[in-house]
Amino acid sequence: MQELKNAIRERGKVLSNDVLKVDTFLNHQIDTELMALVGKEFAARFKNDGITKVLTIESSGIAPSFMAATELQAPLIFARKKKSLTLTDNLLVSTVYSFTKQESNDISVSKDFIQGGDRVLIIDDFLANGQAAFGLIEIVEQAGASVAGIGIVIEKSFQEGRKNLDDAGYRVESLARLHDLNEGKITFVDELVS
Ligand code: 5GP
Repeated sequence: MQELKNAIRERGKVLSNDVLKVDTFLNHQIDTELMALVGKEFAARFKNDGITKVLTIESSGIAPSFMAATELQAPLIFARKKKSLTLTDNLLVSTVYSFTKQESNDISVSKDFIQGGDRVLIIDDFLANGQAAFGLIEIVEQAGASVAGIGIVIEKSFQEGRKNLDDAGYRVESLARLHDLNEGKITFVDELVS
């Protein structure tokens, strides 16, 4: 998606060979016009897949998935990272190791919001090693629902997540795929000269 690639190149900051900071449009300040385009693109890719629910993880997944869910006319559910006083039982729970925080956390969704028969589109901001995606998949499968696919805003194709999801048979749609971030430079998969 060209607008997204432009934003990554012009407003992203390479922090190391494997971390990209996009606080300017996705992870802190949100570019609402760009997120609307991102959501529309996800919706276009999954419009014929009978999506009944969109599932993401708080907090950075919420903005890109909101417009996708709006366009698909499906409710948006976000998995919670912290235990809530009002969310105590009746939970679907999985454990996710956070790439950026380097710690494990339980994520949870109330059983009231995903049920057998649901066809779920999972969306997240980044794909690195796939921990967040596999945690969300586990929640969907615990509910007896099915995963229609995984929508990713920025895939770091040089990490394991994409391969592991492909190998496990899941459909992954990434709107920007980073080949590498070496030497402070952003290189996209589709711009490699072979
Ligand atoms: P994974 O679970 O695939 O290993 O990592 C994905 C999660 O870690 C995403 O939900 C995202 O919040 C965070 N993450 C992974 N890599 C990056 C990165 O390069 N930049 C930012 N801002 N977040 C990342």
